[in-house]
Amino acid sequence: MQNTVKKTAIKEIFTSIQGEGLYVGEKHIFVRFCHCNLACKYCDTDFSVSNAKKYDIDELYNILSGLDVETVSFTGGEPLVEVDFLLNFLEKYKNKLNKRIYLETNGTLYDNLLKIIDYVDIVAADIKLQSVTNEENRFDINKKFLKIANKKETFVKIVFDNNITYEEIITCCKLAKENNNTIVLQPKMPLSPDIRIEKIFDLFYKNYKNIRLIPQVHKFLNLL
Ligand code: SF4
Repeated sequence: MQNTVKKTAIKEIFTSIQGEGLYVGEKHIFVRFCHCNLACKYCDTDFSVSNAKKYDIDELYNILSGLDVETVSFTGGEPLVEVDFLLNFLEKYKNKLNKRIYLETNGTLYDNLLKIIDYVDIVAADIKLQSVTNEENRFDINKKFLKIANKKETFVKIVFDNNITYEEIITCCKLAKENNNTIVLQPKMPLSPDIRIEKIFDLFYKNYKNIRLIPQVHKFLNLL
């Protein structure tokens, strides 16, 4: 049953250039939520809610509709933690807002994704690898997630460093191949001086050809 969420804490709402994934370089509105269900080792997200502001769905609509930018990127944290708020918002305002809805997600909360997938246009789904996050691999969960995500345009993002294992590479390629998803490989930042980018890329490429290497561009350009 759907819960009505009156207000939720949002860390920030801002416009900037998308710095990751297949839509890199586009102007997006970013709506950054505060919480996450994972705890990746390299995470640089500030999860404190002390400097977040609470918004209801009408206030959020008023802000987004006043910005002359075509795409809204819901990000975090993990935006699907706030699924009831998002569902309330999208049910009421998706059509009226008339903007593309882009979901940046860690690819784990598939039940929550199911609730809002009809309102989402693009899913940027991370597969979080144990070798780099210290979180356990959740490939079975990622598989269920991608099955739902692929009702809409979806690509897979993988952050890696030299610790990536061959088994992780094979499994990620298999998951992406099953759904014909592009894999965006993103070296972990800051770049380690000895990172073997081309070697790791080639290991992926041997197993799956629909791969692109796209670093976090906003960090090179000093954008938000
Ligand atoms: S999924 Fe993203 S926001 Fe959550 S802990 Fe990992 S890096 Fe941080």
